[in-house]
Order: sequence, then structure tokens, then C-alpha cells
Amino acid sequence: MSDCIFCAMQQGKIPFVEVFSSDNLFAFLDIGPLNHGHVLIVPKKHYANMFDMPSELGCELLSTMQLLGKAIIEATGAGGLNVVQNNFSPAGQAVFHVHWHLIPRFEGDGLLKWTPGKYDHNEQMLKLAAEISRAMK
Ligand code: AMP
Ligand code: ZN
Repeated sequence: MSDCIFCAMQQGKIPFVEVFSSDNLFAFLDIGPLNHGHVLIVPKKHYANMFDMPSELGCELLSTMQLLGKAIIEATGAGGLNVVQNNFSPAGQAVFHVHWHLIPRFEGDGLLKWTPGKYDHNEQMLKLAAEISRAMK
């Protein structure tokens, strides 16, 4: 796809620091890491977001993330790892070629903290759960 930065990387138009490549996926160091060793894993084919991607790719994606995640932990000495994936602008997606962030985490690094909200009452939860459930059919 033209004007896609991740497609341009694969076409050799933009330099990047690769850590993994297969027929369907590639992974590289994020240029603006939350912690050193922050890696993006990306399908080689252009899909704008998770909803556009064929679910058949999911199995290879997960097995590669398991391998890559363990390798990142080992290489960085991290105590943990976050997997983050953003869909659409309100969720923070800036590059519209689907990708997963693998972010090594260290005790007390203070990253990715959020304040939990709450529901007003149980009926609100039940109604919302029913609506989501219905929308899946
Ligand atoms: P997102 O907000 O989920 O779309 O994340 C996009 C990510 O792509 C950001 O974390 C950027 O730092 C990263 N990024 C953008 N351009 C490059 C690049 N040329 N090389 C490596 N990472 C990049
Ligand atoms: Zn692309």
C-alpha cells in the first residue's frame, strides 16, 4: 500500500532494525521505545487493523509472539512483558498497518498504568454484557 510506513520498510525504502522475519510476519525495534527492547510484530501483508486481518494468521502470530516475547525478556533482563495492540485513532493507533507492541517491563518503571473506572450498578453491567453478546451474533 502506498504511503504506509510499514509497507515501505518491507520494500526497502525505509531503514529499520529487524529482529525477526518469516513468510508472513516481520518484527523490528520500535523507533520510539517505551523501554529498550520494545518490538513491533507486523504481518507482511497490509491490513489496516486487527478486524481486517484474516484470523488464520492468528495461530502463527501467537506462536511467534511467544517465542519473541521470551527472547525479549531474556535479552533485556525484563521481569515482565506487555502485549499492546491499538485499533483506530481513539485507541491510539498512529500507523494504520496492523501491528502488536511487545514491551519489556521492569519493576517500578511506571509505564502503562491506568486508573480503573466503575459501573453505577449491577444492572448496567448486565445490560452492557447482553448488548455485547447480542452484537456478536
Ligand atoms: P501505534 O500507535 O500502535 O500505531 O504505534 C505505532 C508505532 O510505530 C509507534 O510506537 C512508533 O514509535 C512506531 N514507529 C513509527 N515509525 C517507525 C519506524 N520508522 N521504525 C520503527 N518504529 C516506528
Ligand atoms: Zn502497510
